[in-house]
Amino acid sequence: MDFLDVSTILQVSALFNLMAALAWLVLAQSFRIAPRASRLMAAGHLLWLLTQGCTACMAGWPALLRDGIPEFGLLGCLALLLLAVRRMLRSRQRATDMAWVSGLGALGIAIGLALQGSVLAQFASTAAATVLAALATREVVRCTGGELSRVVGGLTTLPFVAMVLIGLAHGAELLTEPAWAARTLASTPPSAARASLWLLVTVSTTLSLIALMIWRVVARIQHLTFRDPLTGALNRRAFEQALADAQAQLQRGHGFALAMIDIDHFKRINDQHGHQAGDAALQHCVRIWQANLREVDRLGRLGGEEFCALLPLATAGDLSAAATVAERLRASLAAQPLRWHGLALPLSASIGVALPVARDTLGEIGLVRADAELYRAKAEGRNRVCVATPLSGNA
Ligand code: GH3
Ligand code: MG
Ligand code: MG
Repeated sequence: MDFLDVSTILQVSALFNLMAALAWLVLAQSFRIAPRASRLMAAGHLLWLLTQGCTACMAGWPALLRDGIPEFGLLGCLALLLLAVRRMLRSRQRATDMAWVSGLGALGIAIGLALQGSVLAQFASTAAATVLAALATREVVRCTGGELSRVVGGLTTLPFVAMVLIGLAHGAELLTEPAWAARTLASTPPSAARASLWLLVTVSTTLSLIALMIWRVVARIQHLTFRDPLTGALNRRAFEQALADAQAQLQRGHGFALAMIDIDHFKRINDQHGHQAGDAALQHCVRIWQANLREVDRLGRLGGEEFCALLPLATAGDLSAAATVAERLRASLAAQPLRWHGLALPLSASIGVALPVARDTLGEIGLVRADAELYRAKAEGRNRVCVATPLSGNA
């Protein structure tokens, strides 16, 4: 590594951390993109900048500071990184695990410094930082798994995995060769290889975080484009697209059914309890129905309190399977009233089920037939499912 000058690498690293911190701050303050995660990332870069800056110039400093700053700095950076990843991915994970790992790590570092054992302090910070990196890796895998393509997901996770591997290798180094490790690590500034490795990890982790942020922004735009903002069900446009796609699949033998759903006496809820109660009722219904549908099913809000479920069928033309799903939707709603300001407001829905018609490219005939069954369900007393008679040879 003679061709690499340590002080140049450290300067490049310092410049990169400074620029990255500024970029995250601009994203947070001016563009309001993932503001909390971006601020945490900015803090992480600034802390790393300080830690590295200190490492480079603290040769004559008291041993306690010289040994303590890099260890606490590393621990703080990894804690900030994990927090940023969790914010970025809107993880529901609570921060208790992180608090425990960081607390134990800080305690280990303090004990190591008190005993004047710099290897012990380094081991404590390395162990805690490795666990924090592993938690961040798990978070990235958990939130992006299945959502991103394998290549993109793998590339995004790679820097976090690299951090864990470096941590493990460094921990093993400290355990097996403590004297050598103490000598190497006491040499400030660090070796060119070590400084380059950290620069590489810092840059690739930043790129990963940017990729995760872009993914989050794209997911948000898609949500706004295809989802009904009140309930989160597909909006009319997205549902019509899903229906047209399903009609195209029909020619290849992939059957489906349509269940048109209309909430019963919905106007009364608005009239008696206010529009907000009506909105809460719509959200309540969609929550219940989504919980009773499979991942392959599509639920769309066609307008007002009218919804439609597109139900792919294992066996094309199997109306009874679709009727069973529709009955489950009806029964689950009837069994769970809306809790509204201490009241339990009963809700029910009428449902019409029909099969699609082949060569109807947009699926409009299927919708009209399901709608006719819905009207029959209303006319027969509401809170029931009516199923259309299949058209011979069509579905
Ligand atoms: P039926 O059993 O015959 O379906 O009676 P209904 O009262 O459910 O049907 P109607 O079509 O008479 O009333 C639908 C009401 O839904 C009227 C409209 O004000 C209300 N509505 C439509 N969209 C929304 C919304 O987004 N929020 C709220 N709160 N109400 C809505
Ligand atoms: Mg209604
Ligand atoms: Mg209606």
